[in-house]
Amino acid sequence: MTTTYQMFINGEGVDPASGEWLDTVDPYRGDVWAQIPKGSDKDVSAAVQAARIAMTEGPWATMSGSRRGAVMRKIGDLLVANADKVAESEVRDNGKLLAEVKGQLAASAECWYYYAGLADKIEGASIPLEKPNTVAFTTKEPIGVVAALTAWNSPVWFVAVKCAPALAAGCSVVVKPSEFASASTLDFAELTKEAGLPDGMFNVVTGLGPDVGAALVEHPDVAKITFTGAEQTGIRIYEAAARSLKRVSLELGGKSPNIVFEDADLDLAATGVITGIFGAAGQMCAAGSRLVVHRSVRDELIGKVIELARGIRLGDPMDPRTNVGPIATAPQYQKVLQYLDIAKSEGARCVLGGNPASQEELRGGQFVEPTIFVDVDNSMRIAQEEVFGPILSVIEFGDEEQAVRIANDVDYGLVAGVWTRDMARALRMSKALRVGTVWLNTYRTYSYMLPFGGVKRSGMGRENGVDAVNEYLEVKSVVMSTDNSAPENPFVIR
Ligand code: NAD
Repeated sequence: MTTTYQMFINGEGVDPASGEWLDTVDPYRGDVWAQIPKGSDKDVSAAVQAARIAMTEGPWATMSGSRRGAVMRKIGDLLVANADKVAESEVRDNGKLLAEVKGQLAASAECWYYYAGLADKIEGASIPLEKPNTVAFTTKEPIGVVAALTAWNSPVWFVAVKCAPALAAGCSVVVKPSEFASASTLDFAELTKEAGLPDGMFNVVTGLGPDVGAALVEHPDVAKITFTGAEQTGIRIYEAAARSLKRVSLELGGKSPNIVFEDADLDLAATGVITGIFGAAGQMCAAGSRLVVHRSVRDELIGKVIELARGIRLGDPMDPRTNVGPIATAPQYQKVLQYLDIAKSEGARCVLGGNPASQEELRGGQFVEPTIFVDVDNSMRIAQEEVFGPILSVIEFGDEEQAVRIANDVDYGLVAGVWTRDMARALRMSKALRVGTVWLNTYRTYSYMLPFGGVKRSGMGRENGVDAVNEYLEVKSVVMSTDNSAPENPFVIR
């Protein structure tokens, strides 16, 4: 039986103005399991208008920060209480492991608690000016209506890291989830209502990116766009936003290195490597898709990685025994298969996998074998371009300087892993790497408390951490004279 969803505008479930719905397909079972509204610019206008009125005239505008925090904590509580339902929707949409999605939902609830705690700590500063008889201070005001455009791989987590700081700052939001995975965001929207969030503060419009997403980006009443998705889409959004000078933050792709030195604990490193590239079938912005390894330990490390990777069980993402689920969408599956051919044609040597996985128990779902290519040169496309799939490219180096050069020699700069027992080297590397996050002897260690984002073509702006609230605030300066005597007439020349 398919579930038919409505959009969520001004605190209510709403049918699309177009009267049309889009199928949403379970990538493991291959069936249409739900239908999501095919929104249009009319729905976008309704949602942005609701958001604008709610933010400026609704109760959120005058509610104390502490009360706002209480509502946001309740959202976190309801997310915990409803995790089973929300997780199931997300798994059916994007094929991510149920256990992993549940972990992400627990972290998302914590993220709501974290920013709830900041809602009553939006403070300005008192600035002692160099001018006598003045008092000067700053206040922070909500930036305006926020448009949050999200990718399909972690929808409810993206909502948490974008919308929790935005609401804490006093902004209202309109979320546009991926057309491939909108259901869990729509489930979540109901919880915001139940938590007591005033109508219009949180809205969800669904539909196709070039229709609904573009209309949202263009809308004159949207002040800030926060986007997670593909690099080309990010560029398009940035260009469109420039025309009306909207604030933009972009979380884009990566081609991240996992750098393993000759003195590393190779068992630890091998685990980090497979977590970094085969977890979530490599469909992570922070995938460690390049293994940059010292040539003296290359063969030993690859042997360990292959051994671990051979134990990976592909299958039903709902099954707790499964380690890796399917590729989430049909276009993404085709893209990954294409890169298998590209790597082979470039002369990379495949030492594991290299094919679509088609065992009977996979029910014809979109699976790709965990794949490792060696003899990769960093200039090859398989080393430079983001695949977003379970393909590891192995590149060797001779010394630290060369490791840094290879690691930095890509257009992206999202994360890097470094594996070494030499702590001085670890810290040298953390400085030399042009990325937003460096993981030393660990990988994929995220936290809503720690800023995350990219440099170079991986994007701009930071999510998570205390400062993320500032992405949704404008600073206003106020200056007052404490001198009541009449000022000198500036037009009288003495
Ligand atoms: P995508 O760019 O295709 O879609 C992301 C969102 O943008 C969707 O909601 C989509 O509907 C919308 N969109 C598409 N075209 C648009 C347009 N013209 N105007 C406005 N909105 C538009 O990305 P995706 O395929 O969903 O996600 C995969 C990408 O996301 C990968 O490249 C990956 O690297 C990136 N990603 C980045 C991070 C990060 O934090 N840096 C995290 C996860 C994924």
